[in-house]
Amino acid sequence: MQFRDLRRQYCALKSDIDIAVSDVVSSGDYIMGSRVRELEKELADYVGTKHCISCASGTDALILALKVWGIGEGDAVFVPDFTFFATAEAVSSEGASPIFVDVDKDTFNIDPADLEEKIKLTVRNGELKPRVIVAVDLFGLPANYPAIRSIADRYGLFILEDGAQGFGGSLNGKRSCSFGDISTTSFFPAKPLGCYGDGGACFTDNDEWAALMDSYRMHGKSLSKYENVRIGMNSRLDTVQAAILQVKLKAFADELAAVNRVADEYSNLLYDIVKIPAIPEGFFSSRAQYTIRLNNEAERDDLQTYLKEQGIPSTVYYPTPLHRQPAYRNLGIPTSYCPVTDKLCETVLSLPMHPYLTQEDINSVCNAIKCFLK
Ligand SMILES: *Cc1c(COP(=O)(O)O)cnc(C)c1O
Repeated sequence: MQFRDLRRQYCALKSDIDIAVSDVVSSGDYIMGSRVRELEKELADYVGTKHCISCASGTDALILALKVWGIGEGDAVFVPDFTFFATAEAVSSEGASPIFVDVDKDTFNIDPADLEEKIKLTVRNGELKPRVIVAVDLFGLPANYPAIRSIADRYGLFILEDGAQGFGGSLNGKRSCSFGDISTTSFFPAKPLGCYGDGGACFTDNDEWAALMDSYRMHGKSLSKYENVRIGMNSRLDTVQAAILQVKLKAFADELAAVNRVADEYSNLLYDIVKIPAIPEGFFSSRAQYTIRLNNEAERDDLQTYLKEQGIPSTVYYPTPLHRQPAYRNLGIPTSYCPVTDKLCETVLSLPMHPYLTQEDINSVCNAIKCFLK
């Protein structure tokens, strides 16, 4: 059994992917080819935004958004403490200061109450200017955007939706990657919509910001390619990755339904023995991960060892709160700064999850967990 079986997915789509890749290779149109523009249109239509600007990774997508808003030294950017490192790394790489916010223990997403608390503290402190809230759709579940939007409006902050894991999710019928003033996603192979290398995209309804992101991703070009009006990056999506994503986007609705069937089956079999992921009313998750919670660190670690002995892979997403990462040690953040995240890092375990997981696989995972906990 594989944690995320990308090869099985390739086999299911092989003939279309092989044709798409060989078309690009024989076309000679390798960078910013017509398929990149086609894909951007398809992605914007899917998400429901006016613009999609593709780029080289989900991390770059976050950086592009921050550049557009001129975020840098002296600016405070609020990020959840429980997420992949890149969420905060993008902020730091632009010279701004990430302010870590605790998360909700049931949804794993940024906690609006702690968010408001940390904004007030930052204002009172007076050293940094609050500018942006980065909300992450962790494990596929959209963050609590109604609450986050009302806080953002009250304090005059932008919302940057980090939808790297969220693509395909929705809230009251509105799709993920449309909730931020700018939203981003990643096409890293293991994400809900993955390519066969690195890739990412930004989404927005704002014409001016879209034009700026298009400039920043290509060395700060003006409309003329060899006139550079700002310092930018080299961050483009390869045409071959765009071609792969076009095929995978067509199969995406079926895969999204399949991962949700897998998740529902896990929940049916596990709800009375471990804490299962919560999907609040009105929310739909892209099920990037299926993450259970155990009672304590020893139980979690022993279960992981036991599963491994049974040939069942599992992963701890994430073992370390961002504020405890060695790269942020110099910030001198007090202990008990984000207690929920501390606890989650000790007790979470993500189970094998992909659209091609069989009922037999699901049964053997759940039986092993039951067997261990009895
Ligand atoms: C994967 C991920 C990123 C970074 O995406 P890359 O394409 O790997 O650069 C950013 N944020 C979150 C929450 C992620 O899971």
